[in-house]
Amino acid sequence: MFLILLIIFVFPLNLKAETFPKIFGCFCEGGLITGNIKDGNILKIDNKQIEVFEKGRFIFAFGRKYKEKIKIEVNNKVEEFAVLKKKYKIENIKGLPRKKVEPSKEDLKKIISDANKIKEAKKIGYRTRFFNEKFILPSKGRMSGFYGSQRILNSKPRRPHAGIDIAAREGTSVVAPSSGIVKLVEKDMFFTGNTLIVDHGLGLISIFAHLKEVFVEKGENVFQGKKIGSIGMTGRATGPHLHWGVYLNDKSVDPEVLLKYDLY
Ligand SMILES: [Zn+2]
Repeated sequence: MFLILLIIFVFPLNLKAETFPKIFGCFCEGGLITGNIKDGNILKIDNKQIEVFEKGRFIFAFGRKYKEKIKIEVNNKVEEFAVLKKKYKIENIKGLPRKKVEPSKEDLKKIISDANKIKEAKKIGYRTRFFNEKFILPSKGRMSGFYGSQRILNSKPRRPHAGIDIAAREGTSVVAPSSGIVKLVEKDMFFTGNTLIVDHGLGLISIFAHLKEVFVEKGENVFQGKKIGSIGMTGRATGPHLHWGVYLNDKSVDPEVLLKYDLY
């Protein structure tokens, strides 16, 4: 009798667990999901093949906007998941003097050169996972800016805010929210001021902007909680604050998702 029960109840459950991987993270706009599949299995998301890393690890970011559903296919077994929509704050600011909205020619040169350096640092680097199961806040302070909000200046939509802002006194410690390797240290960037990028592995990076000081060097290993810099107002900032952005390649991730969800 026991054996029959075992076969009826345990076996089918095991079969399902065997055939479809457990997925961690948030199925939401701004969200990120991780998991692992068996060696040699093929993973497709919305019909597109996704890179699978060491130990069958995969990672996927939704970006700021996504359809209502996502289709995940592992070796021809398909499952659909709902993707939670987010409402973003849109701010219309009109009547600004043109000079304030459009940068000068020299500024533009610097802006483009900075953007290229950041773009380069967003490219996938280490194919090893360094990030922890959960991220921690890199600084203590007041949340003054949220992921996804957007400003429309003189009817021109600006790039949506790809991170969160933490306002605090100048000199407040900034720590690594997750482990990784320092990928970029750059002083005086036009928008982001003293800027630091940490590679968490598998294409996931954190960018820290407007720093006063940076205490680490390019190529240095950092572990979660290590002091890496201090809050400042370098670059374009109206007050001392930390801008913390997260990207998976070119897709932005809501840092708050990483604080709430465990990643595999
Ligand atoms: Zn910001």
